[in-house]
Amino acid sequence: MATMPVGGLPPHDTDRPADLVVHNAKVHTGTALPAAVSAVAVRDGRIAAVGHDAEMAPLIGPGTRVVDAVGRRVVPGLNDSHLHVIRGGLNYVLELRWDGVRSLRRALAMLREQAARTPKGQWVRVVGGWSADQFAERRLPTVAELNEAAPDTPVFVLHLYQSAVMNRAALAAAGYTRDTPDPRGGQIVRGHGGEPTGMLLAAPSALILYSTLAKAPVLDEADRITSTQHFLRELNRFGLTSAIDAAGGFQNFPDNYGTVIELARTGRLSLRIAYHLFPQTAGQEIADLTRWIGTVRPGDGDEWLRLNGAGENLTWSAADFENFSEPRPELGAYEGEFEQAVRLLTEHGWGFRLHATYDETIRRDLAVFEKLAADGLFPAGNRWLFDHAETVSPDSLDRIAALGGALSVQNRMSFQGEAFIRRYGAAAALQAPPIRAMLDRGLTVGAGTDATRVSSYNPWLALSWLVSGRMVSGRTLYPGAGRVDRRTALEMYTVAGARLTGEEDVKGVLLPGYYADLTVLSDDYFTVPEPEIQHIESLLTVVGGRIVYAAGEFEGLDEPLPPVVPLWSPVARFGGYQAALPAAGGVRQAELLGEAAAESAEHLRWRNARDLGAPAGGAAPDPCFAL
Ligand SMILES: [Zn+2]
Repeated sequence: MATMPVGGLPPHDTDRPADLVVHNAKVHTGTALPAAVSAVAVRDGRIAAVGHDAEMAPLIGPGTRVVDAVGRRVVPGLNDSHLHVIRGGLNYVLELRWDGVRSLRRALAMLREQAARTPKGQWVRVVGGWSADQFAERRLPTVAELNEAAPDTPVFVLHLYQSAVMNRAALAAAGYTRDTPDPRGGQIVRGHGGEPTGMLLAAPSALILYSTLAKAPVLDEADRITSTQHFLRELNRFGLTSAIDAAGGFQNFPDNYGTVIELARTGRLSLRIAYHLFPQTAGQEIADLTRWIGTVRPGDGDEWLRLNGAGENLTWSAADFENFSEPRPELGAYEGEFEQAVRLLTEHGWGFRLHATYDETIRRDLAVFEKLAADGLFPAGNRWLFDHAETVSPDSLDRIAALGGALSVQNRMSFQGEAFIRRYGAAAALQAPPIRAMLDRGLTVGAGTDATRVSSYNPWLALSWLVSGRMVSGRTLYPGAGRVDRRTALEMYTVAGARLTGEEDVKGVLLPGYYADLTVLSDDYFTVPEPEIQHIESLLTVVGGRIVYAAGEFEGLDEPLPPVVPLWSPVARFGGYQAALPAAGGVRQAELLGEAAAESAEHLRWRNARDLGAPAGGAAPDPCFAL
């Protein structure tokens, strides 16, 4: 069974050697048959064969690259079905990422160090990927702490969709004074004298947060290219080989798509991207959609970069905000304009994705779709899906199924679940979102993160959340019945995403003829203890037969990447996601020990200052331990 012909594909030419063979692996193909094999052969960017090691011999020639996976688990490359990857790439090297950081103390130390290496005129920005709940201290930094860490460098720290904390220098750089009015849906928190304190609140719209961030300097085009390359490589680090871009605010078409278009044109994308077009300005949505329908078509592009439709926003008036620390927004009458947009899209063969957090919004959207369906205008053969759907009801799920829709869910609750519980109660959170109910109806449910401004882009946090129901705070949100098994979770991260872009015939499983997109994992996803799933990384990521990421025993096998620019970039110093496990190597282990020692010395000083002496049951820190 060296080759497994699949329907419609030409028979394989076994006389021609493969370009790449990965063997001695535990290969999960993602299909029933063959369920478990040990080798994958790749030719011309596609899988040429899957089978057992001995069966690969005829495919290995003098030019074949052979990689011994040393018994590790191989799974199909992951596909984040809701990632703001284009926007994330344009800004990646400018951001200090607190993703994975376990204490506020460490986060502030990073911030202090980064402020010192940031040149005048630039900002330090922490934009998503973390939550106060992940810190041992369970709290946000204060304005005073930011001022202390960065007396002169503007610092902007975004927390979920809820708030931002700015230091004194950032308030000055943004031009916020006692005379600055509050923007609509947002609040500049003020002291008794009317001066801004440094806190910004989304109340409930996050626009105030993003429009403030938009005052910070941006990269020039050359640096945007490098920044995007490094962001894609960071995603490859976790086994991601595809993403469906959800567009987003401040992501204008075509201007802000130029960087990924240039990378695609020159063969430098290391992640496949299907993208969407998102009207940016309230009141101009229909004009924008009309213009795009006249110039581009869904499916335009190639296997690396292609247009998939409109969304996740169609009309601003229909957008609900998922700020769970605020009441659900009451939307005004939006149906007229919304119907016009949907009708325009479906009549012209455009599918779409639609941001909707709450069932109240979803029910109103569905009523519009059903009205169009009664006239035979919906979905008219077009793919469509709801994004997020945290509080969607069983009745709405039935209606979505009847209209041939799909869903994409993200682990936003692992970051915002505590806020959700405080507002709506633990019982309501048990079904937020009701993933089992979606799957039980046979709906296609893609998984993803919604990174980079709220959740982290690390897919293993999302897979861990799907399987264990646990949030970054450590608390379990869902009972067993609300979770999914590991195989299903992986399918949501592979096959389902491929369906959402109509690529299920070429993507999502490891079979001959499919794209050679796979990842060799640091630990076996199917057998590691549940709490370890979140710590999995890729050690070797292959996209279209190219090795785009390699670490551990495979280090050096991947394509070279230009160095991070600018030199002061936080990514150049800290990288992206901060792995918590000493598995990352001895250096990290030593750093953790150093941090622990510093922490105990600090704690001792604090106790001494209060005449409390050494902690009960423990002596003063051993000087040998204080590295
Ligand atoms: Zn959204």
